Amino acid sequence: MSVAELRELERAYAIPTYMRNPVQFVRGEGATLWDAEGNEYLDFLAGISVLNVGHCHPRVVAAIQEQATRLMHVSNLYYTEPVMLLSKALSDSSLRGKVFFANSGAEANEAAIKLARRAKPGGEIVVLRDAFHGRTYGALSATPQEAKQAPFAPLVPGFVPVAKEPDALAAAVGPQTAAILLEPIQGEGGVLPLSDELLIAARELCDQVGAALIFDEVQTGMGRTGTLWAYEQTPVVPDALTTAKALGGGLPIGALITGPRLADVFEPGDHASTFAGGPVICAAALVALEICSDPELLASVVALGERFAAALEELPFVTSVRGRGLLVGAELVPGVSAVELARRALSEERLVINATGPSSLRMEPPLIVTEAEIDDAVARIGRLVS
Ligand SMILES: *Cc1c(COP(=O)(O)O)cnc(C)c1O
Repeated sequence: MSVAELRELERAYAIPTYMRNPVQFVRGEGATLWDAEGNEYLDFLAGISVLNVGHCHPRVVAAIQEQATRLMHVSNLYYTEPVMLLSKALSDSSLRGKVFFANSGAEANEAAIKLARRAKPGGEIVVLRDAFHGRTYGALSATPQEAKQAPFAPLVPGFVPVAKEPDALAAAVGPQTAAILLEPIQGEGGVLPLSDELLIAARELCDQVGAALIFDEVQTGMGRTGTLWAYEQTPVVPDALTTAKALGGGLPIGALITGPRLADVFEPGDHASTFAGGPVICAAALVALEICSDPELLASVVALGERFAAALEELPFVTSVRGRGLLVGAELVPGVSAVELARRALSEERLVINATGPSSLRMEPPLIVTEAEIDDAVARIGRLVS
């Protein structure tokens, strides 16, 4: 089918929640995508940091194929091996507590919010300006953005948005606080790293009032920033973290991972999900986690991220570059629209990137990207503005 025909079907049958670009992708491999006409694209968005292992990683594909021919689903009323192996692998590689699986980032955050309230009944959840935690009601209530929240009021009560300053945080946190929920680097907000000072204040405040410090690593996790988890490069350790996007190597899965203190807060019956932790997706995630944990890959993410940031900074229309590892945001000079640039990158240079705001670009290539591909992407962006 042509893009025009797909657009007709969309107009008639798809609830119009998405602004799709006029391209139909039919195949992917590594950091490369192909459209239906056979044109080749360089993918520097990776499905919004889902394809950290690259498109159709052969080991992930093999794990899916192998598991899919044997058993696809039985429900969480019974045991299967992949879900327990993945629970252990995630715990061992992070906070050394226990794991609850969900099907998305928003759902992982729902589990985290419920856990915090279960630990401190009726407690408030403190969240930060520019945060994004997802679109379901709890996660949306934790996302203090007027445009996203206002049409859907009333929201879930008990969420307290605060400015990203230690003093503001201190004023908002008290004995009534069940959790501070934050992204160590705000992804959808425009690749905005939080300061060490703010993170230390959050840690200290949580310790003082017996609240849980919860990191939303849905976007920063799975090696994106050059360590398996972004918290490893901060001066604090959270009490729990959530992850999703890249965890399934391309398939949908989310997880709440606790440290020891919160590991046994939930009791049987407190929370559940029919599909979560199914054998196919957990088999895929076990492989994705192993690939993303490789110290050589993580070192290369750091080096490639530095190379990428340095090259972007050389572009005359880039004023600053933010982020860590291969989570990269570029701020553009006034007069250059990031939205327009991302659109033209796709149509004129066959480079997939994205705008998080009117003047900021976001780039998140697969972690297996090469130096040559990084240089190529920068050259393609550079050609768009002359
Ligand atoms: C994408 C994202 C979410 C939401 O994940 P979904 O899978 O779309 O529900 C939550 N938090 C952060 C930080 C994200 O980047």
